[in-house]
Amino acid sequence: MSANWSNQVALITGGARGLGRATARQMAAKGAAIAINYTSRPDAAEALATELRAAGGRAITVQADVADEAAVIAMVARTEAELGPVSILVNNAGIAWAATIDTWEPKGFARLRAVNVDGTIHAIRAVVAGMRARGYGRIVNISSVAGFGTCGFPGNHFYASTKAEVNILTKRFALELGRHGITVNAVAPGFTRTDMTEGGKTPEQWAEAEAGFAKVAITGRVGEPDDIARAVTFFADPAAGWITAQVLAVDGGRMDYIAHG
Ligand code: NAP
Repeated sequence: MSANWSNQVALITGGARGLGRATARQMAAKGAAIAINYTSRPDAAEALATELRAAGGRAITVQADVADEAAVIAMVARTEAELGPVSILVNNAGIAWAATIDTWEPKGFARLRAVNVDGTIHAIRAVVAGMRARGYGRIVNISSVAGFGTCGFPGNHFYASTKAEVNILTKRFALELGRHGITVNAVAPGFTRTDMTEGGKTPEQWAEAEAGFAKVAITGRVGEPDDIARAVTFFADPAAGWITAQVLAVDGGRMDYIAHG
């Protein structure tokens, strides 16, 4: 299959807000058709699809909780019926969960893993047969610098462990799929301004968090969604076919890790 951006179909999980929305905008600007997955915010998904279509692009919204494999299979079927075969999958949907050894409880951890890990597996399983048959695919998983295990941010041990699983699966799936023309990479963002990080904080709390993370980044600032989306779009590029099994930290050059790898 010859590939350029104008014949790509990108399915972006959690595509309506934050990092997913920035990625959808960048890929649409390059000419890709976009399926915007959402679970709780149809308003945000519809607003983005309307924006992308108004700019001349092709975009649909597709509801599915990525933790539900049957819903993910139906989402991929609908995307392919309406836009064509999925050539780019961005596994961006994710949730955070703050807990310590003492406050851990199984339900919260199970849900965290169901979305961050199982969700990634479900979406890859749902697109991979088609990608294999066509001999082409770009899969980009959104991990986190937390997944390296050395990030000093307190209270996110279990979230970090789910992202470490995503990093390992990225490399293992790349190994399994490389001979089929499918690349699998991950972007590991540092602290970036989205609803996940800004939500639930007062302006004072946000200013304190932002200043703290800016201070420990070589570049002296926190991330913006476009900073992360640029790396995702790079991995998804049709010309990036010899780049696979990579986990790229995009964190402004963080200096506060417990240890440096
Ligand atoms: P966000 O603003 O909270 O957006 C999360 C998105 O994920 C939303 O669009 C949400 O859908 C979707 N989502 C959540 N649970 C879902 C589910 N079960 N099924 C389908 N979609 C689901 O977060 P963000 O900061 O953009 O985060 C995006 C990804 O980056 C996540 O994987 C996160 O762990 C990772 N990350 C973020 C940062 C950061 O600093 N922001 C750093 C490292 C890694 P609805 O809109 O429908 O609710």
